Amino acid sequence: MAVPKRRMSKMKGRQRRTHYTAVTATVASCRHCGAPARPHFACPSCGHYRGRPIITIAER
Ligand SMILES: [Zn+2]
Repeated sequence: MAVPKRRMSKMKGRQRRTHYTAVTATVASCRHCGAPARPHFACPSCGHYRGRPIITIAER
């Protein structure tokens, strides 16, 4: 198994980590109720997907 020959300097590790970025979640609005919902996922507030009811949301 390959093993690093030398310890990587703080600078080298930090230079690599400059490319690490947080992923922004994509949010679209539900076609049925207009609430913010993720694309390709059933709406969390009304349970519709592509304009049709897919899942039943429990009433509080
Ligand atoms: Zn909805």
